[in-house]
Amino acid sequence: MDVLTSGHLYQNTINIINHAAEIAGIDPAIRTRVGKPKRAIMVSVPVRMDDHTVKVFAGYRVQHSQTLGPFKGGIRYHKSVTFSEVGALAMLMTFKNSLLGLPLGGAKGGVAVDSSTLSRNELQSLTRRYTSEISNFIGPESDIPAPDVGTDAQTMAWIMDSYSQEKGYAVPGVVTGKPVEIGGSLGRVGATGLGAIFCLQELLKVLDKPMAGTTIAIQGFGNVGSHAALYAFERGAKVVAVSDVSGGIANEKGINIPKLIEHYSTKKMFKGFSEPHGEITNDQLIATKCDVLIPAALDGAIDKENANSVQAKIVVEGANGPLTTDADLILQKKGIKIIPDILANGGGVIVSYFEWVQDISAFFWDEEEVNANLQKVMQAAFKRVWTFAEKNKIDTRTAAMCVSLKRLEKAMLLRGLYPR
Ligand code: NAD
Repeated sequence: MDVLTSGHLYQNTINIINHAAEIAGIDPAIRTRVGKPKRAIMVSVPVRMDDHTVKVFAGYRVQHSQTLGPFKGGIRYHKSVTFSEVGALAMLMTFKNSLLGLPLGGAKGGVAVDSSTLSRNELQSLTRRYTSEISNFIGPESDIPAPDVGTDAQTMAWIMDSYSQEKGYAVPGVVTGKPVEIGGSLGRVGATGLGAIFCLQELLKVLDKPMAGTTIAIQGFGNVGSHAALYAFERGAKVVAVSDVSGGIANEKGINIPKLIEHYSTKKMFKGFSEPHGEITNDQLIATKCDVLIPAALDGAIDKENANSVQAKIVVEGANGPLTTDADLILQKKGIKIIPDILANGGGVIVSYFEWVQDISAFFWDEEEVNANLQKVMQAAFKRVWTFAEKNKIDTRTAAMCVSLKRLEKAMLLRGLYPR
């Protein structure tokens, strides 16, 4: 094993691929090829800090596969980012895009930095230099980054501008998740959360259960978690607990999510929220008595230590890789239904795809059109996974990977192995 493939998320992902490849009868040569990225780039990102000292951050971009189209995947700023984590997330993007039926490959990027300790100027310098270091490898026809943990629309605007300055003309299609004013798509900000709720609606439909009154606990109150909470609330579900990195709040009667979002957007914390609630820890959030648990923070949030405490009957993986392999098995044994990450959080990349299409055609859609198309793609992907799982009597994570691998295999066999 090398520095790229040694991490736990990478190994977890390889385990899932191998298991699914066995069931789906995937060609052994294809199986070997999909376990490695096409290209992995490691860069140094020197930044002059506000106090005039220079710090050097480690940056990465891993391009896993471009069999189905240009590389596509987010950029993460987090202190625990490693080459291996980025590699695993790049691999997951390939399978997500394949499963969702998008004409895109998979990639991921990251910088090992605690962005909360940097000023806005320092963040901008870091982003522009990181963009410059990887600019030979990205572009609207080759590799299209997007936001992930610790990055947002402003980060994408800086990347788009830096890339465009180097080219000498505006290239909006180089990133997605941009502000609408510079070529972003309506509906992109909330798309991952909305997609997760569309998936949950489909699962509840096949289980013959209503959305209204369903109780939900959500870990992570960032882009994915807060939007999932809002769209669930709007559909009559009761969000009974939410948390962020510093802990959470709960109310078994349901939290007023629009009010909480208003409070959180200015205070950046739950503390001081005026509506009735109790305080909880992240361990208590995972163990909340509820119908649905949505882990929407970081990978590995549910492991063998806390998996047994989960009381929910459904887990919707808003985050990438929120269950370790051990936790996955424990939850399956408990009979918990899981909507796996590559399906559940696909909404972001689906609307990113729509944004890229709009940028290339320079013709923009209204939000209803974006959301209606998002729902259509999510419903079709959910149906493919559910049908495969039912037919083969297997769990949904394996089914999702099987469906994805089969599409990828077909395309790889058609394209063949260059030179021969
Ligand atoms: P974000 O940075 O906006 O929010 C992350 C949230 O998780 C924050 O509320 C943070 O406080 C919380 N958090 C961090 N560490 C935690 C911990 N140890 N315990 C509890 N909470 C913790 O990130 P995001 O964009 O919402 O992404 C969340 C997850 O969803 C990631 O796994 C990401 O890869 C995945 N994802 C995001 C998108 C997207 O469009 N943003 C798309 C697909 C998948």
